Amino acid sequence: MNPTQPKRILVVEDVRAISMRIAHVLKAHGYEVDVVKDGEECLERVATHQPDLMILDLMMPKLNGVEVLKTLRAKPETELLPVIVCTSKDFSTELKYVRDLGALDVIIKPFEPELLARRVNDFFGVATTVGMEVQAESPTTPHYTPTLDTLRPHIRLWGTRGSIPVSGPQFTQHGGNTSCMEFAFGDERILFDAGSGLREAGISFLKDGPRHIHLFITHTHWDHIQGFPFFAPIYVPGFEITVYGERGFGRNLESLLGGQLDRDYFPIQREDLRAKMNFVFLDENPVIIGGAKISREFAHHPGATVAYKIEHEGKSIAYVPDNEFLQGFRGDPKEVLPEHPMVMAQEPMIRFLKDVDLLLHEAQYPPDEYPKKVGWGHSNLANACALARLATVKKWIVLHHDPNHDDAFLHKKLNLTWQILKHMDHYVPVMHSYDGMVEFV
Ligand SMILES: [Zn+2]
Ligand SMILES: [Zn+2]
Repeated sequence: MNPTQPKRILVVEDVRAISMRIAHVLKAHGYEVDVVKDGEECLERVATHQPDLMILDLMMPKLNGVEVLKTLRAKPETELLPVIVCTSKDFSTELKYVRDLGALDVIIKPFEPELLARRVNDFFGVATTVGMEVQAESPTTPHYTPTLDTLRPHIRLWGTRGSIPVSGPQFTQHGGNTSCMEFAFGDERILFDAGSGLREAGISFLKDGPRHIHLFITHTHWDHIQGFPFFAPIYVPGFEITVYGERGFGRNLESLLGGQLDRDYFPIQREDLRAKMNFVFLDENPVIIGGAKISREFAHHPGATVAYKIEHEGKSIAYVPDNEFLQGFRGDPKEVLPEHPMVMAQEPMIRFLKDVDLLLHEAQYPPDEYPKKVGWGHSNLANACALARLATVKKWIVLHHDPNHDDAFLHKKLNLTWQILKHMDHYVPVMHSYDGMVEFV
């Protein structure tokens, strides 16, 4: 090597902006720089004109940097060619591999070209002492480390199963407790339905919940009230529990809920309750709790069943666990337009759900199961999809899962939901609920 000749450096880099910057800086340091843009071109160039040093990118078209290194090391004439590897992949296993192939140094992208020039100078100055350690000197940017604001209003689903609780290894993902939802905002926590999920909700209220609990009941089918006798706050002095619901067609709410504490059904009786209990019948006027407005609409389900809507700080959430939308309809949901006679009959519900930010609505039966379940009070999945479109809801969580549908089945059913929505050319984010699910609004 002639000491008066400038050292020749071959830069192998497919991103032109990077190779230009490197070349510019190295030239400024007095080096002669040649640039090629892929591994094949690199090997051709080395064969005709061997450089004194190579700057080698790893991820390149045609032949990647590792292949180039292996090829160089396999030939006696290039076996000892000094190579500095530049890569954005800072993975120790890969870097070790590259060093084992005799890379002189590894520089992690992005780097300041001046850093590279310093390494190159070091190499030509004191070649024998150049370290092999990786030094990432990326330009420092302030770190973005967001944390979840858990004080934001949110819903928590304590129970998401319909009909009857289930348990077993095939239900671990979605859980097995029946209907119970909480809406929490500020210091308030409002409960909806008293299915078996209410038991755990009660334990959490004992720990740190407000002493005045508001409980809204959609209807008094077992899966929406069966947790009530196990709701611990009802036995604790100092708690006040206000239960809201429809008048019902027969017995009233108080006797239906409290009736579960009849001595023939349960070891503790109504007179053993220690909390102050209030029962409020719903009417056309919404209920206001804290800054939240709760209104209701009748659902298509046996008895006096209602759906609830919470409006709070400009956001709206609708809770509709039981609603057989378009009862008996088995046609293509694409054809379900506002002027369809069946849709017109459901107009109040569609208007009630219009543009809600979050809809929690059932879709209990896939279309192939629905024919046998018409009139059971639960929606055909395709019809529920049609409702989500008609009401142009912004997000949909499917709840009230059928006790016969295990995790594997529900996973397939969710995929079917996405497929139906795609068929309808309608995009809405849709998820399946599970016990313990928390969703921020
Ligand atoms: Zn139900
Ligand atoms: Zn029901």
